[in-house]
Amino acid sequence: MTRDIGLKVKTPERECTDKHCPFHGSLSVRGRLFDGKVTSDKSRQTITLQKESPMYFSKFKRYARSKNTIHAHVPECIDVESGDHVLTAECRPISKSVSYVVVEVKE
Ligand SMILES: [Zn+2]
Repeated sequence: MTRDIGLKVKTPERECTDKHCPFHGSLSVRGRLFDGKVTSDKSRQTITLQKESPMYFSKFKRYARSKNTIHAHVPECIDVESGDHVLTAECRPISKSVSYVVVEVKE
């Protein structure tokens, strides 16, 4: 059974037994959303993703490039590859540095 996680995202086609899955497990998502590009998928069930956002310095009246990098958990029912654009949602901390979970892979 697939749960409604309260976000307008595509639900995964297959089911999984991952307890850290927002659709089929007991993990609830709340808080912020983070979308970015997957920069590493080497570790099992965890990815790193990065987003570039311009940061304005009023003293210099110029923009600087800033990068935000987070770690996110990948549920078993979602396939993610390096270079994909994914949407993640904040959840309770799964490990020391992981408190986001992948909810959708964008085209
Ligand atoms: Zn699942």
